[in-house]
Amino acid sequence: MVISVTKTPSIHQIFNKNPNNTYTADALLYQDILRYSVRDLNSLDTNSEYPFNIWNLTAWLIENNLEISDDYKRSSNSHMTKSNKIQARRGRVERFLYTLIKLDLLREYGRTKKSKGDGTTILYCLTLFGLIIALLIMTKNSKKRKKANDYLYKTFRKEFEAGNSSSHKFSRHFFEKLRENNLFEKYTAHLLDTSEKSESIHNLTEFMENSLVWNLEKSDSEKALRLKKEAFEGLDSEAKKKLMNMQKSGIEEKMANIATNIEAFENARFERRNDYEAVVTEVICEKCNLSFVLVLPLSEYLKRVEFPQFQTAKCPTCDVENSIKIPSFRV
Ligand SMILES: [Zn+2]
Repeated sequence: MVISVTKTPSIHQIFNKNPNNTYTADALLYQDILRYSVRDLNSLDTNSEYPFNIWNLTAWLIENNLEISDDYKRSSNSHMTKSNKIQARRGRVERFLYTLIKLDLLREYGRTKKSKGDGTTILYCLTLFGLIIALLIMTKNSKKRKKANDYLYKTFRKEFEAGNSSSHKFSRHFFEKLRENNLFEKYTAHLLDTSEKSESIHNLTEFMENSLVWNLEKSDSEKALRLKKEAFEGLDSEAKKKLMNMQKSGIEEKMANIATNIEAFENARFERRNDYEAVVTEVICEKCNLSFVLVLPLSEYLKRVEFPQFQTAKCPTCDVENSIKIPSFRV
């Protein structure tokens, strides 16, 4: 029996590098298509989409993609008409568009009448995930960084305003504070780093999940934690309760997947099911190898997660300091 396996594309393809640490020609072509899809940063507004067709895209790539433009400069094909050049390249561009759609970075916007001849041609546009990745790519250019970051901020803000959940409200407050305190650029640098390094991101949800661990220098990390606290305090009491309940269940859900004494863990979790200010964890002593259930105030747990040195405790059985490791899950 022959089984054909189609590898699910991951956004790693967009950031693939050669052994000498430069992007591969394929990676640059993906990046250029995304850059083209954003167009001119000056004219962007968050309520518009910018659909394009493959013909105009390919024409732009012939001028702006390093590999293709170099190719025409060097080769004997340099005197081809522009139209023939586009015809020659559109097959490859089409395959790349197809992969970008599979990655949920682009989508079909609709169809439009061809400018020459009969029939229609497909229009493409960025998805929300595509817009975020395209803008992150643009932050690499120091001349465009500020505008790309401004636009990223507007994009996130619009999403948080459109959502009505407690976590949308919290995120809106938190991002506002990141920006006021000059941490937003560091956050987008972290997002770019995540997209470049992770090999298993296939969509926006996985991207945000992979970005949860944000390693900052100690002083920035303390600042970010303080801003999180302020953002939380800015919520009304109903939103606070709902957010805590969601964080508690998120952490406990992840904890359940690694718990060794499931019965004890489940019992404790059931007992605390109505206490949204407490999170049930299972911890292990590295010294005596004993695992036991530890209930921590949610706020304390969230603080410990931010700082590795706090992810330990003294074992009540063998009495050794810092022998207990508290699994840290971010939500
Ligand atoms: Zn112990």
